[in-house]
Amino acid sequence: MQVIERNSDLRTVLGEVKKKGLRVGFVPTMGFLHEGHLSLVRAARQENDFVVVSIFVNPIQFGAGEDYQDYPRDLERDCKLASAEGCDLIFSPPVIEMYPPGYATFVEVENLTETLCGARRPGHFRGVTTVVAKLFNLVAPDQVYFGQKDAQQALVLKKMVTDLNMDLQFHILPTIREDDGLAMSSRNKYLSPRQRREAAVLYRSLQEAERLIQGGVRSAQDVKAAMVSLIAGAEEAEIDYVEIVQAANLLPLERLQGACLVALAVRFGKTRLIDNILLEV
Ligand code: AMP
Repeated sequence: MQVIERNSDLRTVLGEVKKKGLRVGFVPTMGFLHEGHLSLVRAARQENDFVVVSIFVNPIQFGAGEDYQDYPRDLERDCKLASAEGCDLIFSPPVIEMYPPGYATFVEVENLTETLCGARRPGHFRGVTTVVAKLFNLVAPDQVYFGQKDAQQALVLKKMVTDLNMDLQFHILPTIREDDGLAMSSRNKYLSPRQRREAAVLYRSLQEAERLIQGGVRSAQDVKAAMVSLIAGAEEAEIDYVEIVQAANLLPLERLQGACLVALAVRFGKTRLIDNILLEV
């Protein structure tokens, strides 16, 4: 497995790969890999001839006061894990390679970015779409792999791909969870033992939503209220949002109908966790 830091080296290697007519699968990440990331690498491995994983903690998707500096990083460990899954190339550029002095171009998807995490993290998705557009241009993948864990991100990026006529196949794969249901996340590492125990309430609240909806409840307000009261039982939990929206466009729902996304963001101390489930009503 090669580890590449420079755009020019990446182009050289991928130029050769493309010349051979190999199919390139790409998994963009911020590193500190866990089973969630590795499930994407495995899918890319199965469906392509050459697998690229990027590891880049993208400064422009973090707001002031967010955890850019503290975000966990361990490139050596990531390389071992990715290599064990059959990754062919890790691209891990320094910030200056992606954003040299004078950098001035940004990609922005409207509407979908104005709710949920977009409303709470101004500029976040503009940073995500910009870096992912750059990475897609650099790697020129045939297929790309994202996690349902970041449902809004996946939807926004899919929209970018469609609107900008990017020629690639976009895959969204299921959320991988710990035994107690907590969605795997690099940020789980920040949790104290008590916060970690309490954080299992997030998935329990999503399961409770599913149970209520399957039992016939159709008022979004009633389902959200039940979720909020469950989460409030965790002493260190501070709710950022609990929302039920239409899965296709993220618009709010009052009466539950069709494909619904039940999504939440909750802070445990300084750590902000997100999770969601998709339900067909
Ligand atoms: P990140 O490194 O957090 O930016 O995530 C990189 C990719 O891995 C994104 O497409 C995420 O949605 C995906 N991902 C993160 N956590 C999980 C998880 N628990 N299950 C599945 N995919 C995940």
